[in-house]
Amino acid sequence: MLYVVGLGPGEKEKMSFEALECLKQAEIIVGYTTYIRLIKELVGDKEIVSTGMKQEIDRCKKAIELAQSGKEVAVVSSGDAGVYGMAGLILELVIKLEEPIEVKVIPGITASIAGAALLGAPLMNDFCHISLSDLMTPWEMIEKRLHAAASADFVICLYNPRSKGRPKHLVKALEIIQQYKSGDTIVGLAKDVGRKKELGILTTIQDLDETLVDMTTVVLIGNKETYVSNGQMITPRGYQL
Ligand code: SAH
Repeated sequence: MLYVVGLGPGEKEKMSFEALECLKQAEIIVGYTTYIRLIKELVGDKEIVSTGMKQEIDRCKKAIELAQSGKEVAVVSSGDAGVYGMAGLILELVIKLEEPIEVKVIPGITASIAGAALLGAPLMNDFCHISLSDLMTPWEMIEKRLHAAASADFVICLYNPRSKGRPKHLVKALEIIQQYKSGDTIVGLAKDVGRKKELGILTTIQDLDETLVDMTTVVLIGNKETYVSNGQMITPRGYQL
């Protein structure tokens, strides 16, 4: 059996019982080095297959081979494995096999949901996820989605918002979003959610200091109704109070 397990954002408390159970049962854990480090104490002395960031295909192929040999294997992703994680890649590789293996995807709390809880209740109305990484999606497509989401006034959760390799993506994205949302639209930064340095920051599009944003930040941009009160970011659901 091959489990694809979403670990949640970091700490054990935010992991599901099912995910914990899977990690206990698995004989071999496969994952990116940083995530394995997060669950080190849960892994104990199990066999670990750990590789760097850009070796996803090799890592998944290895996990599939191990499962084919009869082992109980858990491939781990941070957050939810089906949100910019390993679940899709595993399923795409498995359907190509002559003798398919059984795969079970175990959900985890994705960064936007954990980040939203840290900041208040910003996702109470329609929202979407957009990744600013153009490693696998062309930048033109990302821009198109930013235009569509901002013009429809979705609350927008930006994943992979800013890295050394793409320092200007966030600024470019905010320029597009500002064509539809005003500069004083509330922005929440959820940094290192569920980890030691966890930090929530509330600001607006026009006041955002982009240097605060890194690869372990999820950026939540409100809709026209989103406001801040008592240090909490709230998007009204529409109740008449
Ligand atoms: N599968 C993951 C997402 C992987 S993409 C999930 O479901 O959460 C990587 C991006 O997710 C990061 O660039 C960041 O935007 C976001 N992210 C992942 N973990 C995070 C955390 N602990 N705190 C804040 N953002 C996080």
